[in-house]
Amino acid sequence: MRAKFNFFSGNPSLDLINTEEMRRGKRVDLLSNIDDLIHWFQTLVHMGAFSQEQFADLGGQPDEGVLNALKTLRAIIRELFEKAANNGIPPLELIEKLELFTKNAPFAYKYKEDRLIPVPTGSFQSSLLSLIALDALDICTSGKLPELHRCENPQCIWLYLDSTGKRKWCSMKLCGNRMKASRFKLKSEEQPES
Ligand SMILES: [Zn+2]
Repeated sequence: MRAKFNFFSGNPSLDLINTEEMRRGKRVDLLSNIDDLIHWFQTLVHMGAFSQEQFADLGGQPDEGVLNALKTLRAIIRELFEKAANNGIPPLELIEKLELFTKNAPFAYKYKEDRLIPVPTGSFQSSLLSLIALDALDICTSGKLPELHRCENPQCIWLYLDSTGKRKWCSMKLCGNRMKASRFKLKSEEQPES
């Protein structure tokens, strides 16, 4: 399996919006077909962002309809998180759109290892979208919004959560090194271009 998805936060809503990335100045969609969708979903289960119990008894399959609905949700969450990262205030009309996604697959709860796991009650599509919308709503209401930042690389569109207040990049490995290298290049040029 290709290591296609480089961003994992443990928050499926954040991981979803970061399935779009910039490559050589172009916006690239990492969820371009159903195979990508299945790969992304399995990766999040593998990384523990979703648990098997949450998708144990569902009807429906990952298909074109799920992919399109997921992209609609992704656009809503991106707009919400970008606005909230700018001024700390999540727009109410976008919150209400997320609430509608949770209505389609409300939750039962399962006790596991001292935690309560929300288990959506709906089709695969409704359940997947409901869990991701719930995660985005949780970020907006659990005091985490001040930790939401845009990557400081102007060529990057990723957002991330940071509780230390020290992190500047989505990833040191990706943008951090890139930005350090370009600053070093600028410094070492005698007459930097204006
Ligand atoms: Zn970045």
